[in-house]
Amino acid sequence: PAPADPPYLRGLNDPQRQAVLTTDGPVLVLAGAGTGKTAALTARLAHLISTRRAWPSEILAVTFTNKAAREMRERVGRMIGDAVEGMPWLGTFHSVAAKMLRRHAELVGLQSNFTILDTDDQLRLLKQLIVASDIDEKRWPARQLAGLIDRWKNRGLVPDDLDLGEAEQYANGRGRELYALYQTRLKALNACDFGDLLLHMLTILKGHREVLELYQQRFKYIMVDEYQDTNSSQYLWLRLLAQQRRNICCVGDDDQSIYSWRGAEVENILRFERDFPGAVVIKLEQNYRSTAHILAAASGVIAKNGGRLGKTLWTAGDDGEKVRVLGLWDGPEEARRIGDDIESAQRGGTDLDDIAILVRAQFQTREFEDRFIAIGLPYRIVGGFRFYERQEIRDALAYLRLVNQPADALAFERIVNTPKRGLGDKALAKLHQLARAEDVPLTIAAARILDTDELTPQARKSLGRFVADLARWRRLAGELPHPDLARQILDESGYTAMWQAEKSAEAAGRLENLAELVRAMEEYESLGSFLEHVSLVMDNDQQVPGGSVTIMTIHAAKGLEFDTVFLPGWEEGVFPSQRALDDGGTSALEEERRLAYVAITRARRSATILHAANRRIYGQWTSSIPSRFVGELPPEHHEEETSLAGGESLWRANWTTGADPFADVARGAGRGPGWQRAATQGGFSTSPARVLEARASAVSLGNKGRSDLVVGQRVFHTKFGYGTIAEIEGNKLEIDFEHAGRKRVMDSFVTV
Ligand code: ATP
Ligand code: MG
Repeated sequence: PAPADPPYLRGLNDPQRQAVLTTDGPVLVLAGAGTGKTAALTARLAHLISTRRAWPSEILAVTFTNKAAREMRERVGRMIGDAVEGMPWLGTFHSVAAKMLRRHAELVGLQSNFTILDTDDQLRLLKQLIVASDIDEKRWPARQLAGLIDRWKNRGLVPDDLDLGEAEQYANGRGRELYALYQTRLKALNACDFGDLLLHMLTILKGHREVLELYQQRFKYIMVDEYQDTNSSQYLWLRLLAQQRRNICCVGDDDQSIYSWRGAEVENILRFERDFPGAVVIKLEQNYRSTAHILAAASGVIAKNGGRLGKTLWTAGDDGEKVRVLGLWDGPEEARRIGDDIESAQRGGTDLDDIAILVRAQFQTREFEDRFIAIGLPYRIVGGFRFYERQEIRDALAYLRLVNQPADALAFERIVNTPKRGLGDKALAKLHQLARAEDVPLTIAAARILDTDELTPQARKSLGRFVADLARWRRLAGELPHPDLARQILDESGYTAMWQAEKSAEAAGRLENLAELVRAMEEYESLGSFLEHVSLVMDNDQQVPGGSVTIMTIHAAKGLEFDTVFLPGWEEGVFPSQRALDDGGTSALEEERRLAYVAITRARRSATILHAANRRIYGQWTSSIPSRFVGELPPEHHEEETSLAGGESLWRANWTTGADPFADVARGAGRGPGWQRAATQGGFSTSPARVLEARASAVSLGNKGRSDLVVGQRVFHTKFGYGTIAEIEGNKLEIDFEHAGRKRVMDSFVTV
């Protein structure tokens, strides 16, 4: 590089320079993680502006997140001084399309001040339409329809484009009708949903030459980051806009395509070369982010995928440390271990901002939050709510708070009509009125109003049932272990069923979170002490100076990098996810593997992968086996460390004493929808016959207590270890544990 180079070119390698300097004509940069794709794109933007090839307002630049857009804007500003006053068309697909649509809204029957609906609004609207169309909403949930409409929109399909097969996926062929109704209704409300932003713009660009030409003229240059995750409608929109000048530069990595569940189509990479013949394809092969070991470990895993475009990656950097793989006893130990490691790194001078924990699924964050609160380690959750702030968790907590503390008015209000019980605003207003008039808590007011004719018969009936339920749960609180109580409340209130009815990935995630909540309760002595803990956690919101550890999903970490990365939960059924395993095909698994590749390549200097031998899922301890991705790490680039401290001996004892390793599964079988998942989790999946047998024995156990237990017997409990039975009372046992002292436990949790 000559010293006369402008600052934005300094340090770039040859192919990166080519990506910056090949300004005219179509350019496709295809390269692996950490090769400086985003860096090159940023320099390209600086180059276009500083050489006056285009004004900032004449460049369309699309990033995957708003945060990435902000960063790019700042970097360009630094590269060329503060000469850039705003880049109006730098943003995500959504934000750019929204801005355009406001200018031309009337062409699709909207006004420029249209509202953009959020998911909740969207669902409410769809529900109304479903009910009004005499479709059974229980059978055909709004969420399912929302998912379909989303997918259609992602593919750029308006109702008229749907063929029969597609319309058939909902309510026996009424999908198209409902989709059309929904679009009409949105227009009447002067509103649109996220998918519409691009879909409407497509309609406008296709139907109005003058608008198309306006933007084809305006955008002298078009650039797209994370191109592998664009969906069809985004692609069609880009293609229309770029057709005239053909100055389009897309950068991406087929190995990092991780949003196919949201409609992204990696085939867009192949389409690009077809649609823009003569495109210059640039490959970047030098990785600047990670040490050699980390890079080789990630490359080894992704090499197991078929159908890759294929690429070489190398680094001039040092080997660094091998990727660490830690096998631990259970989930809590995993959280403890990561907490310890972070604290010692912190003592060694590492900035907490340089450390991230990347999880496969949101529910995994809970364990870390609890641990970090306990040891006072500052953390932040990025791209998602903190565990205890999620809607389903707050709802569930409201039920528990109300059982624990009948006067909790906020909790009462939150759930009195969740799930829907036909208690509308009017009924609630009456309740409030009575509570104020008689100066009693809402729950008491609710009980009193039942003796009157203030409410409609229907509202009275459902409120009556709710009040009776509450009373019963309160009685049960004295009898059942609190996790069991929680499970029962969530089932009997219809709350679990509400999410089960919605067959979306999001609802499945919420169910996982609920199970995780119940799991978390087992670590506390009583319902009261658990709720106390939660209120402390919720209070711990303020940002702490001096940095904080980032906890986020791998999906949200795309494009980012950290010095030190922890990757917990690499177990079959967690990562790869159970859904990918159930799917059975290779494509879901390959997407998980790409996710593993994204995860490892976020690390600059240190990557630690963890897996636990035991995890409690839906309240059941299940043995887990390490993720297949652990097995795919090249041996020369990682080192394994197993520390089944303490627990290991118990675990081994359990096997060598001949205790049935399936016993936990069997006893868990009668305990709700989790059993099957628990049973097929990890190593059990290979023997369906064994699982069926387990179920049969569990069903026969019922609630009567077990016939195989006697006072004085030595038994093993999954949490408290070995102990001697002191008392048996139905299905509850008093046990003197050798280490934990006397505890009252459910017999389903012990093995003989
Ligand atoms: P991903 O696929 O994860 O999005 P990427 O290809 O976009 O990665 P960047 O994030 O642009 O890669 O770059 C990775 C790291 O390498 C960054 O820290 C960046 O500053 C650095 N980098 C990029 N190019 C160079 C270079 N020519 N010299 C030194 N460092 C570089
Ligand atoms: Mg990038």
